[in-house]
Amino acid sequence: MTHDEIANIAPRVGWDLHCHTVFSDGTETPETLVKQAKQAGLLGVAITDHDTTSGWGAAQQSARRLGFPLLCGTEITAQFDHVSVHMLAYQYDPNSPRIARMFAKTRDGRVRRAKAMVRRLSEDFPITWDDVLAQVKEGSRTTIGRPHIADALVRAGVYATRSEAFSGAIRGGSKYYVPTPSPTALEAVQAIREAGGVSVIAHPADPSRNRMLLSDGQIEALIDEGLCGLEVWHRGNAPDQRLRLLDIARSHGLLVTGGSDWHGAGKPNVLGENLTDAEVVKQIITRGAIAPVIPQDSDKPANSAVFPRA
Ligand SMILES: [Zn+2]
Ligand SMILES: [Zn+2]
Repeated sequence: MTHDEIANIAPRVGWDLHCHTVFSDGTETPETLVKQAKQAGLLGVAITDHDTTSGWGAAQQSARRLGFPLLCGTEITAQFDHVSVHMLAYQYDPNSPRIARMFAKTRDGRVRRAKAMVRRLSEDFPITWDDVLAQVKEGSRTTIGRPHIADALVRAGVYATRSEAFSGAIRGGSKYYVPTPSPTALEAVQAIREAGGVSVIAHPADPSRNRMLLSDGQIEALIDEGLCGLEVWHRGNAPDQRLRLLDIARSHGLLVTGGSDWHGAGKPNVLGENLTDAEVVKQIITRGAIAPVIPQDSDKPANSAVFPRA
């Protein structure tokens, strides 16, 4: 397949399955996400904040009120040897003990990590932990991360924009940088499976995130643990890697998804710029442990069955 042919098979109509709100590092509320997705003419949308389910309730309420289809998900930060892996988890039971424990551990670790970075930064820049907390819009329910430190540095006048901070003092490898403690990708896939969810590797071939991408062997190890899909349609995936991802997906029967990685005003990504086909969404809903918000089907009983896996 040529690049043009690959671009031609990307869905033009569908769902945006990768969106962040104020419950992690986005700038807009779940309500605004649902509203804008509806206005943009998408078939549906998923909320996927980092390492949390805190925005799900607000998103579900808005989706019901506005009569717009919604999936719930989380983007889990994980690690596979030296490769940072973002794992999207859809439609899982948030009360499953293992996944709940995993998130609690990650959140505690993240706060400690952010504090350690601020301590290092405060030696050279006018920034305190309180300045960072002032940038967190939803209090303790938000997953604190580098974006909030970046916003505090912008507020202090050190940088003009969040992106400048990200390529400056808080970039990976800078002397102020402290790595995020995170579960392994294998643990994440196992926990998602145990919670009856659908696991998809986010932007698996984004060279700006990793100098080394996941190898075929690493992806196959995740498939053996129950990995369900690959997010092929994402602006970060290098065009020449999309063919590779499509090949892996085809030969292992994986779901192929797409999403914008929308962050509101926090990033240039446009809501709906990458999409997931409705047929794929149907598969996610069938496999998932919890009911989606599908307004036209609201009189049908909730799908509470966990899809059996071989
Ligand atoms: Zn990501
Ligand atoms: Zn994301």
